[in-house]
Amino acid sequence: MDVIDLRSDTVSHPTPEMRQAMASAEVGDDVYGDDPTVNRLQELAARKMGKEAALFVSSGTMGNLIGVLAQCQRGDEAIMGTLAHTFLFEQGGISALGGVFPHTIPNQPDGTLKLDDIESAIRGEDVHFPISRLILLENTHNRCGGVVLTPDYTRQVAALAKKHTMNLHLDGARIFNAAAALGVEASELAKPADTVTFCLSKALCAPVGSMLCGSKEFIYKARRLRKQLGGGMRQAGVLAAAGIIAIEKMSLRLGEDHARARRLAEGMANIPGFHLDFGMPSTNMVFVSVDESIKYSAREIAERLSADGIKVGVTGDRRFRLVTHYWINDAAVEKTLSAFARLSK
Ligand SMILES: *Cc1c(COP(=O)(O)O)cnc(C)c1O
Repeated sequence: MDVIDLRSDTVSHPTPEMRQAMASAEVGDDVYGDDPTVNRLQELAARKMGKEAALFVSSGTMGNLIGVLAQCQRGDEAIMGTLAHTFLFEQGGISALGGVFPHTIPNQPDGTLKLDDIESAIRGEDVHFPISRLILLENTHNRCGGVVLTPDYTRQVAALAKKHTMNLHLDGARIFNAAAALGVEASELAKPADTVTFCLSKALCAPVGSMLCGSKEFIYKARRLRKQLGGGMRQAGVLAAAGIIAIEKMSLRLGEDHARARRLAEGMANIPGFHLDFGMPSTNMVFVSVDESIKYSAREIAERLSADGIKVGVTGDRRFRLVTHYWINDAAVEKTLSAFARLSK
């Protein structure tokens, strides 16, 4: 990758090793369950999340959508944060396609939902109310700054769900980043949840795909829903081959991205006019705002940086997101900081 692309970790290209594995992948028709590489990926993902089974889906959005649809009936409600990706950035798919009602409660700055808020949101038995069926958590929490939920907190929410005969779905798009930041196995973060989605195509560098994990019974339903949504893929082993490397190897190096995000954040905090929205990053995301001393809007800054071969994610009039990943090395971090420093003059 020639440009320094910090818009997201989704922009990360597959590694040379992935491309080789893709070229030589053993394949079959996965709708018939015949693709050995997809089957291997699904077994690996299930094991890593401490679940019975897993399903390869085209995206995190599809994983969350199927996860919710498989656990809720039309008219049921799913409790989630006001800043949840599923609420903000998935086109309301759970309502549009599943008739599922989102019941939002505030996210705390650390990405959590207060246990008391969840408990008050859960409806009692009453003919007027929808049935509260599902709680959604997100780890790492994207819009709260890439912050990390602990295993202990996740267990507490799971216990609350169980008490009310509800399920817990974890949007773990970047669960391996959370695991790396906490120094725990991803399965510890996933185990309390009934179901979990994680992305292969973000910091883990695979070109396409996410995994949805849960019980065998849940994955049976999920597999049917995936076909209904048009997401049944055929010789998907070509993609799964990259996914296996994503999980086995790329998940082990995320600490490097986190260290570079911290270096980037420290540098940005030292440039007059730029401020860290959420303090020092916990994982691979740096959110930056621009004060009035800078004469450019975020969009104008992005255009100027783009001329230097640097791409940043504009998230507001005067806000950016910078995300580190495999293709961002130390030199890219330094070059980015110099480019920002020139804008501050
Ligand atoms: C990226 C992301 C998703 C959706 O993944 P896509 O593969 O882009 O559809 C879901 N949840 C979170 C928290 C994400 O960051």
